Amino acid sequence: MSFGFAQACDLSPKVLFTSTCQHWPSSYRPESLAILTAIIVSPINADVKIYTDSQSAIDTWLQFRSTNFDPHLRSIFKLRSNHIVWNQINEIVTSLNLKLQLIYVKAHSGDPWNEFIDSKCSEVHNNNNSSIITLLTDNMKNIHYILNWNNIEVEQSPRKFISQTSKVRGFEEFFNLARNVKYRRTNIDWKSTFEVLSGDDPSNITTFKSSRKKAEKLKFLMEELPTIEQIKKSFPDIYDNWLCPVCSDVIEDFNHIWSCICHSDFCHVSLIDINSLDNFWDFSIDNNCLTFIDFIKGFIPITLSNYLKLLIFNDKVVRTIIGDLHDFTYNEVMNNIWKPRCELQVVFEKNLSITKKKKLDSRLNFSTNSSFNFINNVNFSSVDYIENSLESLRNNIYFGKDILGFMLHVNYVSFINFYY
Ligand SMILES: [Zn+2]
Repeated sequence: MSFGFAQACDLSPKVLFTSTCQHWPSSYRPESLAILTAIIVSPINADVKIYTDSQSAIDTWLQFRSTNFDPHLRSIFKLRSNHIVWNQINEIVTSLNLKLQLIYVKAHSGDPWNEFIDSKCSEVHNNNNSSIITLLTDNMKNIHYILNWNNIEVEQSPRKFISQTSKVRGFEEFFNLARNVKYRRTNIDWKSTFEVLSGDDPSNITTFKSSRKKAEKLKFLMEELPTIEQIKKSFPDIYDNWLCPVCSDVIEDFNHIWSCICHSDFCHVSLIDINSLDNFWDFSIDNNCLTFIDFIKGFIPITLSNYLKLLIFNDKVVRTIIGDLHDFTYNEVMNNIWKPRCELQVVFEKNLSITKKKKLDSRLNFSTNSSFNFINNVNFSSVDYIENSLESLRNNIYFGKDILGFMLHVNYVSFINFYY
C-alpha cells in the first residue's frame, strides 16, 4: 500500500513525500500514515490543515480532538485498527503543540492537489524499489508495551485480535477432526455454515431457548444425536441389541435416522426443484458428495450460495435466505422425525422400567469395569488436513484476505489433490 502527502500552502516550503507500508491492509491505514508523516515534518506551534479523502481518519481525529489529544490508553486500544499510528499522531500533536485540522475532500472529484498526490502514490505503488516505512515503537509516551505476533506488531485492537486468533485456532481444530474428512474435500460455505449455527439472535443477548437450540444444532453438525448406537457407548448393558425405535428393524446410527423406512414419506418431499444443484435435494448418505443430509446437519454447500447469488441477491439476502431455509428444514426434521422418534424411545424405556437411576448405575458400573478399547483406526492422508498454523490469520494480516474465504481455497486445493 502506498501513501503520501504534498505541502500545498504558498507560505511554506513545497514538500512532497511518498512511501509504502506493509501488513494490516485497509484504505484507512495509508491515510493514517500520510497524516502521521505530514505532522512529523511540521514546525513547532504550527497551524496544520490536512485535506484528506478519508472519512474514517477524520472520525478518529474528531474522537481524539475531543480529549485534547490526550486520550485515555483504553480508548487508544479500543480503536479497531492502527492504534500505534494514531497514538503517535496524538503524541506528536501534543509535543509539537500543533493546531491540527482535517478537512474532507471527495476523492476523484477533480481537486488538483488530491489528484496530484494520488498520481504520485500510484507511481510509488508500481515501483518495486519504493521505501517501506517502519514505525519505531520503543519510545512512545503512552504505550509502553506492544502486542507482537510472529514478529509482527499487532495494529488491531488487542481484544479483537486475541478473540480472532482463538476463533481461527478453534476452526482449525474443528476442520481437522477425523469426522470432517468429507467437508475438507467438498466445497462448504463456512461463513453461512457458522451463521446458520449461531442463528439470528443478537450476539449480546443469551436466552435458554436459543442456547438449547444451538446445542441441538451442534449435535446435528457433529452427528452426536443420542441415537441408540450413540447411547450404547455409555450404557452398553442396557441397550445391547436394541434396534431403531421407529422401525425396530435395523441398528440406529446417525445415518439411519434419514434412511429409516418409516421416514420415507418425509424424505421424498423436495421443497422446490433446483436442477442446477446436482445433489442438493438428494436424501442419501454419500461419503464424497454433499447431499441434503449435510444441509440438515448444518453444512452449507457453496453451490447453494453461488446459485442464490446468480439470482442477483446480495450477500446479506443470500445469507438470510439460507438461514431461513435451514431453520425451516431444521424445524421440520425436529418435529417430524427426531421428536416423534424420541417420544417412542421414552415409551420403550418406560415399558422396560429403565429409569434415570438405572442408567446412572449402569454408567458407574461401565466406567469401573470397562474393558473397551477406543482405537483410532481412521487413517487419512495428510493432504486432508490443514496445518494448525493460523495460516488464514497470517493471510489476513499480510493480504487482508477474508479468514473464512481462505478456507474455501483450502477446500478447493484439498479437493483437487484428492480427485486428480
Ligand atoms: Zn428405523
